Amino acid sequence: MARTFEIAVFQGDGIGPEVIAPTLSLLDELAEGSRAYSLRFIDLPAGAGHYATTGEALPAASIAAARDADAILLAAMGLPTVRYPDGTEITPQIDLRMEFGLYAGLRPVQIRPGQPTPLRLDGGQPVDFALVRESTEGLFFTLGKGEVGADEARETLRITRRTSEKLFRFAFELARKRREEGKGRGHVTCVDKANVFRAFAFFRGIFDEIAREYPDVTHDHAYVDAISLWMVERPWSFDVLVTENMFGDILSDLGAGLMGGLGLAPSADIGDANALFQPCHGTAPDIVGRGLANPIAMVLSAGMMLDWLGTRHGISELREDAARIDGAVGSVLGEGNVRTRDMGGTHGTEDMITAIRTAMQRVS
Ligand code: ATP
Ligand code: MG
Repeated sequence: MARTFEIAVFQGDGIGPEVIAPTLSLLDELAEGSRAYSLRFIDLPAGAGHYATTGEALPAASIAAARDADAILLAAMGLPTVRYPDGTEITPQIDLRMEFGLYAGLRPVQIRPGQPTPLRLDGGQPVDFALVRESTEGLFFTLGKGEVGADEARETLRITRRTSEKLFRFAFELARKRREEGKGRGHVTCVDKANVFRAFAFFRGIFDEIAREYPDVTHDHAYVDAISLWMVERPWSFDVLVTENMFGDILSDLGAGLMGGLGLAPSADIGDANALFQPCHGTAPDIVGRGLANPIAMVLSAGMMLDWLGTRHGISELREDAARIDGAVGSVLGEGNVRTRDMGGTHGTEDMITAIRTAMQRVS
């Protein structure tokens, strides 16, 4: 009997609905062809548009339904024209991270043939590493808690043993999984600034403790400034990088830049009980409603969701379908016939989805 998974869907704002709708239809097609699983999508309201009409950015009912779902798929939220009365941005996606304790932010950085990377990869080295960003504390713990006086401002950095241990175990497990899949050699690098901040020396100390639980996985440390240089100079040398919240935020955008832009970069935010999958890009107000958005980041995020569900519930067909999505995107990139504007081409969202669908049918 096929197992049904309930997927909480936040269409969000801006280009969100434009990239998520065709992604759901791709998922439907995969699920229809499967005897092992089916998917039920539950549309949940939230976001800046919802706030503008109702005064609520993230209704309690949406949080409750997302909590009960098997996974959460989110497009993008927030609009430059809609803000809270105090002027702050409406970012329910960050509230969800805190609400569900989604401490492990997974950002794969992969550059495949045909990808519009600004790097010159003359040697043909494949770039495929995973950045794991702690997403609930670190330098972002200070959110809304900063003290600003007339002559001085202070913010707070917080690292906890509890979250750090879980984060590092996630990173080491990921290194094992990547090695099994032939994507990595089983290596984790702790990225910090332990030479300046005692809190990051504490972070590194916990990393070393957890590393002892994984004798089959090698590990080392690097400072965040050095990693920024090496991400440009030799990005093929990494396997799993694990870091705190703000360093991870910055390195993710650097990673997205290396991949050829935000339209190509997927992500997952994973906790103990819940997981949320969303593209790295925002709502792209400048191109909304014109059919120009690149759906690749959203499609790859949906693929990560299938992989996570398949791993968690031991359903190999979900992982095979995740690989099918990934392979289809890879072959569309490699052929190079269909490229959206952000990739230097002239195609739109529909063209890209059609190309991915065709490639997916070829490999099934
Ligand atoms: P946020 O504040 O939500 O993070 P942002 O301002 O950082 O948003 P985006 O809204 O993602 O970033 O847009 C940044 C630029 O990238 C814009 O010019 C936008 O058009 C472009 N962009 C973002 N996502 C896509 C996409 N999927 N396809 C094409 N272009 C995109
Ligand atoms: Mg941004």
